[in-house]
Amino acid sequence: MARIEEFERSIAYGEAALSYLKGNRTSAYPRNYELWYNYAAGFNRELNKAVNDALKRLGHLPEDLTERLYEEFLSPVRLSDHVGEVSSRVSDELSGIVKMLESSGDVVETYGESLRSAADGLNAAESRNQLRAIVDKVLRATVEIESKNSALEKQLRESQQHIQGLQESLEAIRYESLTDQLTGLANRKHFDQSLDHAISVAMRRGEPVSLVMCDIDHFKKFNDTYGHQTGDQVLRLVGSAIKGAVKGRDIAARYGGEEFAVILPNTNLQAAVTVGNQIRTALIAKELIKRSTGESLGRITMSVGVAVFRERDTRHTFIERADMSLYASKRGGRNRVTSETELLDHESEKTAVA
Ligand code: GH3
Ligand code: MG
Ligand code: MG
Repeated sequence: MARIEEFERSIAYGEAALSYLKGNRTSAYPRNYELWYNYAAGFNRELNKAVNDALKRLGHLPEDLTERLYEEFLSPVRLSDHVGEVSSRVSDELSGIVKMLESSGDVVETYGESLRSAADGLNAAESRNQLRAIVDKVLRATVEIESKNSALEKQLRESQQHIQGLQESLEAIRYESLTDQLTGLANRKHFDQSLDHAISVAMRRGEPVSLVMCDIDHFKKFNDTYGHQTGDQVLRLVGSAIKGAVKGRDIAARYGGEEFAVILPNTNLQAAVTVGNQIRTALIAKELIKRSTGESLGRITMSVGVAVFRERDTRHTFIERADMSLYASKRGGRNRVTSETELLDHESEKTAVA
């Protein structure tokens, strides 16, 4: 029964997702479908809020906004990861309900027996007292079944609320545990997991996977001059520049304080350098305005390093090469992208001179 309910619920979400897609005139590509499925299921409160805001403002959800909302709310959270988790707890709750219904079956049966024995008793009743005793008994059984039924109804209602709460909180917990609160990007924990995952997928499929590491230039000076709150505003600005420059299965993360990393599945080094430059230029294009005073604080730059996974790499050596490329960008004058091949060129130049 739990499985059937689960099945029916998922189909209902799927049908609702399709009708949202149709109503919104959006193609039913998997990502769009996933977004609307999540919306229908209410798995992700923040997503629903953002969609509702957009619908209120624009009357529909344009393609580019659909794409952005997917990136912001779903890209780092793979639906398939949490469906299993939510469904196992929900199915526990459903088996509780099944037990309740079974015990209510017993109650109904007992009531039936009371009625049957009352009918038999009526046929044989000879005195008024006997008659009254039978009526009393039927009355008591009726009161009992009524109260048991209303208790059952109450329990069912509570259970239903419990399931909804469970779904929402599980999803919220998972989402929060993987997200950096300041920037909305994936956090370090999620980055580590995603990188391991991306590496194993790439090895299995024989595809390249690249890593882009970014570090804000002269951030300490910025913090010291304008204070930490403005520094945090810069971190958010960088987060949104990165989000805007990556898409699809890419995972953008806040790696540390003012360091960011992007995992690019199925992307070679050259394409990853292009992404690095897109991130860098997207950031320069944004002028930072101090909220409290409206004063322009100029533009922020970032240094970027890019590496591609090699067969003998571990997660650690892979990150290290991207990091070394990043520091080559710093040494080279900042606000630039360095790929690991340039690193090797330098190394071989040094060897040649020596
Ligand atoms: P470089 O160009 O060489 O990267 O110089 P930098 O000043 O950016 O680098 P450094 O590593 O010396 O300083 C990093 C600074 O970032 C230190 C700290 O003030 C700031 N920082 C780190 N995490 C946070 C954070 O979460 N919020 C804020 N506001 N500042 C942070
Ligand atoms: Mg740093
Ligand atoms: Mg820095």
